[in-house]
Amino acid sequence: MINATNANTMKEKNRRLVLDLIRKNEYSRADLAKETSLTKAAVSIIVDDLIKTGVVSEFKSAETGIGRRPLCLKLNPDSMYAVGINITRSSAEVGIIDISGRIVCKNKVDVYPKKEALKQIVECIASMVKENAIDTERIYGIGVTAPGPVDSLNTTILNPTNFDEWHYENIGLRLKKALKTEVYLENVSGGLALCEKYFGIAKELNDFLLLIVSDGIGSGIMSSGKLLRNATELGHTSIAYDGIPCECGNVGCIEKYASIPAMLKGTKYADWNAVIEAEDAEIIEKEAEYLSCAIVNAINLFGFDSIILEGEINYRPQAIIDAIEKRLKNNTITRTDTRIFSGSAFSGVLCAAVTVFDNYFKFE
Ligand SMILES: [Zn+2]
Repeated sequence: MINATNANTMKEKNRRLVLDLIRKNEYSRADLAKETSLTKAAVSIIVDDLIKTGVVSEFKSAETGIGRRPLCLKLNPDSMYAVGINITRSSAEVGIIDISGRIVCKNKVDVYPKKEALKQIVECIASMVKENAIDTERIYGIGVTAPGPVDSLNTTILNPTNFDEWHYENIGLRLKKALKTEVYLENVSGGLALCEKYFGIAKELNDFLLLIVSDGIGSGIMSSGKLLRNATELGHTSIAYDGIPCECGNVGCIEKYASIPAMLKGTKYADWNAVIEAEDAEIIEKEAEYLSCAIVNAINLFGFDSIILEGEINYRPQAIIDAIEKRLKNNTITRTDTRIFSGSAFSGVLCAAVTVFDNYFKFE
């Protein structure tokens, strides 16, 4: 299908492009023109409007040297807000964040019974907006994270295990109807990958795999700067064609071997921290062997330059990082320089809410 772009769409696209750059870095108007290939006049029209509406402000850069210090632009944190709802199997955390990643407020509600939970979520948002005197015009939407699998495009929670009451809940439709604003849905790993991109260590990274290793294994994939939606259950890719059967229907899923409970089964350790504190090289090497298997498959498919580790595995992670990196160098074919980083363990509310900003800036 050919997408026609009319003048208004183009105007809005350029506005968001400029705003996204200001969000990430200090830019003068001239630098923005250079970076976007827009004319200086076009940039000035956009910037003047952003200043007029209180979204950005100008300040003198701290640059030293000869000549005048140029005027740079910065995004006003209180100009853009997003609501985040992180639904887990035990509770739902509801909060509001600003564009700088600050959590303005948050609260917790029960997830059972579902009908009551949805009612409470809606009430909770309304009272937080009121208490914090947030201008609703500046709330850009609601982001939800929930246990996977989820259908992001249709904002529906699919059939996550041990969460039957919420199966096939179209949370997007439900909240949109109640709160009259756009709703976005991601699984937790996808939200966390976006958080690293917007507020964490992945600001400059465009192709990375985020791997959460805890009770299960979750994954978020950033490809060419965009989060892959509905396609990231690395925990259920197989590392053994005749391996352990999994609830998902497949056999040999990596989660059956490398999730923390699976790895610790039959050992003397109660949690991963204990393994690290005991410096148990045998278990660390075994975990690295399993994880590398799945990571190598992913790198050979996507050519990731970076892997970000999150979850319980991220406790004092240097030993496991070294053990995985050693294997990646020998076993990958498309590239051999992939680095492993330790992630930042962002709050669930932030991971949920950031999906709103990502949808805004990825406007097409
Ligand atoms: Zn599986």
